[in-house]
Amino acid sequence: MQDHQTVLQPTTDLGDLPDTLAWRLQCPVCAAPEIEQGRPDESAGGDHTAVTVHPDRDAYSSPLGTRGGHVEIRLWCAAGHDFQLVIANHKGAEYVGIIH
Ligand SMILES: [Zn+2]
Repeated sequence: MQDHQTVLQPTTDLGDLPDTLAWRLQCPVCAAPEIEQGRPDESAGGDHTAVTVHPDRDAYSSPLGTRGGHVEIRLWCAAGHDFQLVIANHKGAEYVGIIH
C-alpha cells in the first residue's frame, strides 16, 4: 500500500477554478495515475454503478468504521487493482478513505 502523500496529489489539471482545491487520486497499490470508475470486468456493472450513496441509518456500516451516511466509489487502476474511495462523517469530523 502506498503512503498518504502518494495516493492523493494536489492538482490544477482541471484548470484554475476559483475557490476550488482539487486532488488527483493515484492507485493505492502501484501509484498509477490512470483511474477508472467501476470494475475492469463489465459484467460487474459499468461505471454508472460505481458510485453509491448510503443514507444515514445511524449504524456503523461504513467501510471506514464510521456511523452514519457515507459515499462509496468503486475504482480500479490501469493495472487492474480494485479499491474504494469512501467519504464519511463521524461525530463532527469528515473523513476521506481509501480501502484496498
Ligand atoms: Zn494499481
